[in-house]
Amino acid sequence: LTRLYGPLTALSNVRVDVMSALVSFDRVFEVLDLSPGIEEKPDAVDIPAGSGRIEFRDVHFRYPSAADVSLATLEDVTALDRTEGAPVLKGVDFTVEPGQMVALVGPSGAGKSTTSMLISRVYDVTEGGVLVGGVDVRDATLSSLRDTIGVVTQDSHLFHETIADNLRYAQPTATDDDIWQALTGAQIADLVRALPDGLDTVVGERGYRFSGGEKQRLAIARLLLKHPSIVILDEATAHLDSESEAAVQRALTTALEGRTALVIAHRLATVRDADLILVLDGGRIVERGRHPDLVAAGGLYAELYRTQFAVEPTPEPAPYREEVE
Ligand code: ATP
Repeated sequence: LTRLYGPLTALSNVRVDVMSALVSFDRVFEVLDLSPGIEEKPDAVDIPAGSGRIEFRDVHFRYPSAADVSLATLEDVTALDRTEGAPVLKGVDFTVEPGQMVALVGPSGAGKSTTSMLISRVYDVTEGGVLVGGVDVRDATLSSLRDTIGVVTQDSHLFHETIADNLRYAQPTATDDDIWQALTGAQIADLVRALPDGLDTVVGERGYRFSGGEKQRLAIARLLLKHPSIVILDEATAHLDSESEAAVQRALTTALEGRTALVIAHRLATVRDADLILVLDGGRIVERGRHPDLVAAGGLYAELYRTQFAVEPTPEPAPYREEVE
C-alpha cells in the first residue's frame, strides 16, 4: 500500500498542476468573456442593449464533476464530497433593478463567487434560471451577454503583451485616444505616460510588473473601454497601500456610474452605500435589506458587520504622560 501511495500522491500532484493550468485557462476565458463548455443555442436571442436588470429565479447549482475534481486531492475528504456534486446554491432568488448597486456578503464558502459566475455564464444553473434584461442567459447570444456584462475580479489577468493590446481585448476597435481616456478614468494614465514605451510597454513577468492596485485599475480601464451596462465586481480583500486603495476607489466610482452593479463586498463603504445587501450563507440568502436595518436586526449580517466590515482602525488614544518640567 505504501508503494502504491507514493505514485498516487505524485499523480494527485500532477492533477493539481494540470488543473491549475486549466484554472489559468479559465482566467483567460474570463478576460475574453468566453466560457469553456458553454454553447450558444441556434435560436439564441440578443439581450436588449443597455439592459440593467438581473434576476435569479430559484437558482440551484452544483459544480460539474470535472471542475469538482480540480479541487480534489486524495487527502482532502471534503473534496470527495464535491466529486459527488454537493449543492452549492440551494434556491437563490433575487432581483437587481437597473442602476442599483447590490452588495453580496457572507462567510467564506457561502456561494458569493459562484452566484456572480452564473450571471456571466461561466457555468449554467442546475435548476431555476438567471435572467439578464429579461432573457434567460442560456437563451442569449454570447456576444450580447459579453457586451452587457463586465467583470472586475481581484486578480484580473494581464497577458505578456503591450498595455494597448491588453486593453484592446475589451474593445478591439479602440483607438489610442479611447485607450488614454479609459486609462484616465481608471486613474492610471499618469503612470502609463511616465513609462518609456507608454502604451507599447510590455507587461508581465518578463516585462513591466504592475502592483495589485495597478492591475485592478487596468481591469477598470478595460471595463471603461467596453462600457457594459452591468458590472460584476469582486472587491479586493488583499491589502492595497492607502494611495492605491484611494485611486482604485476613485476609478470604481467612475466605472460604476450609471450602471447596475453586483459587488462581492469587502468594504464598509460599499455595504453602507448599497441599495440592497444580500446575505448568503450555505448557498441560501438568509437576510436581505439595507445596512442600518440589517445591523438593527441583529442577525448574521450584524455579526459579519462586527467581524468583517467594522474594522476601520480607530485612532489610538495618546499615551498619558506626566508633564515633566
Ligand atoms: P469566498 O468568500 O471564500 O471567496 P464564496 O462565498 O465566494 O467564498 P464560493 O467560492 O462561491 O464561495 O464557493 C461556494 C462553495 O463551492 C464552497 O464550498 C467551495 O468550496 C465550492 N466550490 C467553489 N468552486 C468550486 C469548484 N470549481 N468545484 C467544486 N466546488 C467549488
